[in-house]
Amino acid sequence: MLNIILLGPPGAGKGTQAARLVAERGMVQLSTGDMLREARRADTPLGHQVAEVMDSGALVSDAIVSALIDDKLTTLDQSQGAIFDGYPRTLAQAQSLDTILAAHGRTLNTVIELVVDEDELVRRIVGRFTCAGCGAPFHDHLHQPVVPGTCDSCGSHDFKRRPDDNELTVRTRMTEYRAKTAPILPYYEQRGLVRPVDGMASVEAVAAQIDAILDAAA
Ligand code: AMP
Repeated sequence: MLNIILLGPPGAGKGTQAARLVAERGMVQLSTGDMLREARRADTPLGHQVAEVMDSGALVSDAIVSALIDDKLTTLDQSQGAIFDGYPRTLAQAQSLDTILAAHGRTLNTVIELVVDEDELVRRIVGRFTCAGCGAPFHDHLHQPVVPGTCDSCGSHDFKRRPDDNELTVRTRMTEYRAKTAPILPYYEQRGLVRPVDGMASVEAVAAQIDAILDAAA
């Protein structure tokens, strides 16, 4: 059972690669961004508490996201590998993750760093949208539905965009990544855990690089 972190700025492809690993390897994706969006959709007190911060592109508190991860791990079977996506995002979260993993009898195997070009990423993120019916991902320039206005996967005509996928918020999220998240790399580098991957390559090529790393770690 592997426990891995997918690390990289917003739009680097963490969610796409995590979804594939879930489908192909039976791992479980633990995305704090997804958990927080779910709390907002469900109108919970937590959802209300984090809404404004999320919409600005800033980070919510370390205590909140670490508690979400701890809770989620409690629900997993010991045999299920975990993919941490969008967590940890600060050094304090990285330290909490060590404690949390130990408490759950798990150890961190690998940190996959998706290395990307920031300006290209902004273009990627600002154009992305998903099917409201099945969640299939699309893009204004890179991947339009074959029949305009109709989802290729489920035929739905409803699409949605994340409210924080606008240029101003994306730039703030990048700045947060550079200031607070990139500095956690040395924390893992000194333990020999970081494996860089060219995140600007095609989805398939990135997948192949990740597969090779995970096969070697298994
Ligand atoms: P994401 O979907 O990972 O890009 O996350 C969307 C937003 O949720 C971020 O811009 C933050 O406001 C918040 N968020 C998600 N994960 C974390 C985290 N690990 N630490 C702090 N804030 C987070």
